[in-house]
Amino acid sequence: MDRSAGHERRRKDVGFTVGRKRGAPGAALRSFFFFPLGQNARMDPSPAHARIRVVLSRPSHPGNVGAAARAMKTMGFADLRLVSARRPPDDEARALAAGGADVLASARTAATIAEALEGTVLAAGFSARGRDLSHPLRTLREAAPDILAAAREGPVALVFGNETSGLSNEEMGHCRLQVAIPADPAYSSLNLAAAVQVACYEIATAAASFAPPQVSDRMPATTEDIEALFAHWEAAMVESGYLDPANPGRLMERLRRMLARAGLERSEAKALRGMLAAFEARMRR
Ligand code: SAH
Repeated sequence: MDRSAGHERRRKDVGFTVGRKRGAPGAALRSFFFFPLGQNARMDPSPAHARIRVVLSRPSHPGNVGAAARAMKTMGFADLRLVSARRPPDDEARALAAGGADVLASARTAATIAEALEGTVLAAGFSARGRDLSHPLRTLREAAPDILAAAREGPVALVFGNETSGLSNEEMGHCRLQVAIPADPAYSSLNLAAAVQVACYEIATAAASFAPPQVSDRMPATTEDIEALFAHWEAAMVESGYLDPANPGRLMERLRRMLARAGLERSEAKALRGMLAAFEARMRR
């Protein structure tokens, strides 16, 4: 008797047909699971990948750091930075990193978020939370082309917050864009490594079909240019009496938000600092 036919008949008896007319029992399932991956199932790293770094700020659980390294590795990203991690990567982190162990091992640590963002022309802060003084807010899918366009001009950071408290307003203040992964409003908080996975997947997917915009000779201000401008601006406002350091309110936060909207170029940041220096010189005469 034909065993495969019998096999199929038994399957039919219980109400479904997954067997094949020919071949050994189980062949259909085997070929389903071991089907060689076609071109569509690949995600080759783009040139932008090397310029995109993932910054985890104040992660509490080494396991999440390991899982984030694995998430990055699967999508072709390699540059991981940790800002004041509560505990250094440990065995649990290495276990969850699995094949992404090299990404974890080469992760760089930074004492402050500003240090982790050094050299970047765009920092995108990931948060599902609405904020009263919010930065320009985009969904991840909307933001992906902007992130890729910026990566043509210089390094870009994807910034993720602590598992419990998320990104603080201060941390978000160092970013130029707030990115949300659309989720059920009843519970929109993804696990940290899951958020990194979705972000890397979406950006890698967008990179596969990304048509670069017309090349411009724009020289975007770097994160350090912007930080230096804020420090200078703040000092000048204090010196002039406009800003009371004992009672600063949310002025600096507002200015950060304003400049985040502006997307300054290097020469513009330089011009603003030149003005501040001229005002200071006049004040001191
Ligand atoms: N309870 C925190 C969420 C922490 S989840 C809060 O209220 O913000 C850890 C990190 O994963 C977040 O800081 C954020 O960077 C990222 N994340 C989780 N869910 C997200 C979402 N829906 N959109 C964007 N980022 C998200």
